Amino acid sequence: MKFLPISLVSLLVTGCSAFAPTPSFHSTQPGLNAVPRKDSYDITLLPGDGIGPEITEATKKVISSLCKRCGFEINMNEALIGGAAIDEKNDPFPDDSLEQCLNSDSVLLACIGGYKWDKNPRELRPETGLLKMRKEMGLFANLRPAKVLPQLIDASTLKREVVEGVDVMVVRELTGDVYFGTPKGIDVVDGQRVGYNNMIYSESEIERIARVAGDVASKRGGQLCSVDKANVLDVSQLWRDVVTDITTKEFPDIELSHMYVDNAAMQLIRYPKQFDTIVCGNIFGDILSDEASMLVGSLGMLPSASIGESGPGVFEPCHGSAPDIAGENKANPLAMILSAAMMLRYDLERPTEAQLLEDAVEAALDKGLRTADIKIDGDNCELVGCVEMGEAVADLVTSLDLKTPIEV
Ligand code: NAD
Repeated sequence: MKFLPISLVSLLVTGCSAFAPTPSFHSTQPGLNAVPRKDSYDITLLPGDGIGPEITEATKKVISSLCKRCGFEINMNEALIGGAAIDEKNDPFPDDSLEQCLNSDSVLLACIGGYKWDKNPRELRPETGLLKMRKEMGLFANLRPAKVLPQLIDASTLKREVVEGVDVMVVRELTGDVYFGTPKGIDVVDGQRVGYNNMIYSESEIERIARVAGDVASKRGGQLCSVDKANVLDVSQLWRDVVTDITTKEFPDIELSHMYVDNAAMQLIRYPKQFDTIVCGNIFGDILSDEASMLVGSLGMLPSASIGESGPGVFEPCHGSAPDIAGENKANPLAMILSAAMMLRYDLERPTEAQLLEDAVEAALDKGLRTADIKIDGDNCELVGCVEMGEAVADLVTSLDLKTPIEV
């Protein structure tokens, strides 16, 4: 388990500094797999398709502004994925893109896909590139925060008093469970078709996701709720035993609870504020992370992270490439900017800088700036485009007061 080096001298840094780059190195400690904090990072940017290049440009401006303010470097090197990679290299995730990602400290992805490639054969679809990236980079843990911002509370379909203050993180196992288990198929038995899949988890698969969840919970509110169906499923009983074991031994300060998945689905709607961090297997997490994200109400505000056992993580908005508004300066860049904040917190060991980015996003909303997707009729807010929203957040990153001093 990694904690911030509190012994470091803390002081406010307001100007630029020049630093020699240090090589990419990801920790082999249990839990999250961040590079040790350093002064210069190399990240890969994957702008992808549709609104991807627009939200990437906005995010680049914000990151540059942050680095300038806080006195460190992030070198941003672009690579191809999705439709853009198909057009240029006839491959939705070319090997040189993969190699560049693997050699980076972290990866920031915008979004992929579009009408142009919809009728391509499976191997030449943008989505195939995304799946290849996740597989080749061993991204087994998916982190999806659902934080209801006070400025956007009315964008939720639930009542204000239910969603106000909600801040949930769903940690979903991404590469196991019934989606990948064998045997699977559809056979004919006694004259009728029978379909079957195998819900299966090994101890080591549960251990590693439990470590990620424990680490995430320890960096948040210190409460972890493990979701399963142990009253019916043997695989869930093993899940519960292993999560209990890892959490008790390796994260003794965390308050661990268990909940059956059917109850968790109800509780997320009934009283979502009871949750801090939730950990679950692939299929339960697939459903619950979508449910939790709808508490927030707007797709353009939702970041996510996918993390592997070693090597860089991939940080990306939950939304797709929005081809219906691509190139019109209508996209909301905030989900990608918030994904950059997750990258700073979980991959680059820069939690204070992550907080500054998140505060700047909230400050832009406080100023009444809204892209079209989060504008509500009669809200008296100012409608802005992707460029203007990016510039506003970049300016706020420079001018906001720091709640916590930057550690150097
Ligand atoms: P989508 O998320 O792209 O769009 C759904 C709706 O939300 C659209 O009306 C869109 O305009 C709006 N929207 C989405 N993001 C927005 C933003 N940042 N700002 C403002 N409005 C936004 O989903 P879709 O239309 O089902 O899919 C479009 C393409 O994206 C498809 O090719 C799909 O395969 C792909 N896709 C990619 C990812 C990814 O890159 N991870 C995820 C989902 C879908």
